[in-house]
Amino acid sequence: MPEKTLSPGATIGILGGGQLGRMLALAVARLGMKTHIYCPDPNSPAFEVTPHKTVAGYDDEKALAAFADAVDVVTYEFENVPVQTAHILEKLKPLAPNSGALAVAQDRLAEKDFLTRNTIAVSPFRAVHTRDDLHKGLADIGLPAVIKTTRLGYDGKGQRMIKTADDVDEAYAALEDGLPLVIEAFVPFDKEISVIVARNGHGQVQCFDPAENVHENHILKTSTVPAAITDLTADDARSIARKIAEALDYVGVLGVEFFVVPGENGAAATLLVNEIAPRVHNSGHWTEAVCMTDQFEQHIRAICNWPLGNPARMADVVMENLIGDEINGLPGTLSQSDQPHVYGKLEARPGRKMGHINHISANAPAK
Ligand code: AMP
Repeated sequence: MPEKTLSPGATIGILGGGQLGRMLALAVARLGMKTHIYCPDPNSPAFEVTPHKTVAGYDDEKALAAFADAVDVVTYEFENVPVQTAHILEKLKPLAPNSGALAVAQDRLAEKDFLTRNTIAVSPFRAVHTRDDLHKGLADIGLPAVIKTTRLGYDGKGQRMIKTADDVDEAYAALEDGLPLVIEAFVPFDKEISVIVARNGHGQVQCFDPAENVHENHILKTSTVPAAITDLTADDARSIARKIAEALDYVGVLGVEFFVVPGENGAAATLLVNEIAPRVHNSGHWTEAVCMTDQFEQHIRAICNWPLGNPARMADVVMENLIGDEINGLPGTLSQSDQPHVYGKLEARPGRKMGHINHISANAPAK
């Protein structure tokens, strides 16, 4: 963990060269620091905006050592950085978020165990190491259920719905290569929300307003702020996010995704945590348009041990992801109050996040 405060002129090492690394690099430049991006893919979008880069594999110990030597702190923009890579780097330079947070967030079972240990509610789940485990697990948690790989799942990849007993064998066969798996009860949620929380090395914590997220084809399509939830639910979401950051001794920005389950007979809604992401998050891109400090600057402030910025929101906003060839309409579709962000990816493949637009409302926030 970074103990000292880094000054302008410092170099921030970022593992991963996707759009999140690119947006972090832009925030770093604004604070008078430099980035060094490490990524195996020579066509990474973040390489276009960084003064220093390394193209090498995450298992290349020589390249990792040279990278560590060249930077003042190491962070990452995706949770599938091998934990072994994090262990190598954290011996050489401060790593934020820490490798324990990375290990928890990249394995759905470790994540659910961690949340449960910390009395944070998740959908009932069971580990699945064999077909027999699946049958026993379903007998415990009931149908419908969702079966997921524990690792490397994103945007709905590596998961299947099990609606009836007839779906069980096919779902198992489809995911068997990714054992162990996790089976969880299907949540009859009303909506999905997320909270982006930041914590620095002095333990200061700030949360952005909860966003309401809508997915299309399992990919985030829009994040709307404010979310249509009660103040009580919003406060609950913030306090759960803070509790997670503290329990992980987390430094940096963390995304927490929730299911909002409506209460019965007028009771308050309950929140179940679906997933945590140890990084800046797609559902926080709206912050760059309407917050006093955005999630990218907040992450850099946190890992450099700077005082965190004010996350207050100055307008209502809808963030819309541009997926695949949706990017092609730009700039013709933009209205005056649309703020576009284009990631500079070479090829607009189907399902690929190419950019986003923050549609900024003239409304001042309600409070
Ligand atoms: P995940 O990869 O776990 O974030 O899941 C992707 C999406 O699938 C979520 O955002 C939900 O829309 C849906 N989903 C995942 N797990 C469940 C569940 N247990 N119950 C209902 N919907 C789910």
